[in-house]
Amino acid sequence: MSNSELTTTEVLIGLGSNLNNPRQQVLNAIQAIEAIDGVNFLSRSSLYESSPQGPQDQENFFNAVVLVSTNMQAEVLLNRLQEIENEFGRVKTRHWGERIIDLDILFYGRYKIHSDLPDLNIPHLQALTRDFVIIPTLEIAPEWTLPNGSFLKDYQEACLNHQLTKISR
Ligand code: ADP
Ligand code: MG
Repeated sequence: MSNSELTTTEVLIGLGSNLNNPRQQVLNAIQAIEAIDGVNFLSRSSLYESSPQGPQDQENFFNAVVLVSTNMQAEVLLNRLQEIENEFGRVKTRHWGERIIDLDILFYGRYKIHSDLPDLNIPHLQALTRDFVIIPTLEIAPEWTLPNGSFLKDYQEACLNHQLTKISR
């Protein structure tokens, strides 16, 4: 189901960077998300540092999660986020490799979306296994509920450990 009625939906967006002053990249990307036409910025998590998933010969990541509300359809929002990734100079490297900025739609209300064109899965396929997603999300949306009605907080104990450290507000 998509948000075709154009009602306002709360959306969580995950940010990650491990290149070119990654802390600043995340802060700049938060500002870029705030500036998207049609996005109402609600709150952001602290900044976190995490060890890389996938290839280990890369720098630690800086992560954050932002909560917005919007009546943009998920596909349209994805397109805007990909434009921001490109504006920041993101270059495709290896799978789960280093990146200037990664912007993922983690959750889009309680909708479940699986689309091939564009390639879009919501909830994000790895959202429930990543501590650098779950912990910042719970900081700003402690009662977040998944499409199946369960609470995100119930996934916290089972998620993978990436040595997540809160570095600042
Ligand atoms: P990851 O974020 O898993 O490290 P990438 O950012 O390299 O991987 O993946 C980009 C691709 O993932 C894009 O082609 C995009 O269309 C697709 N994708 C699927 N679901 C989502 C989502 N929920 N948010 C962002 N991108 C998504
Ligand atoms: Mg991504």
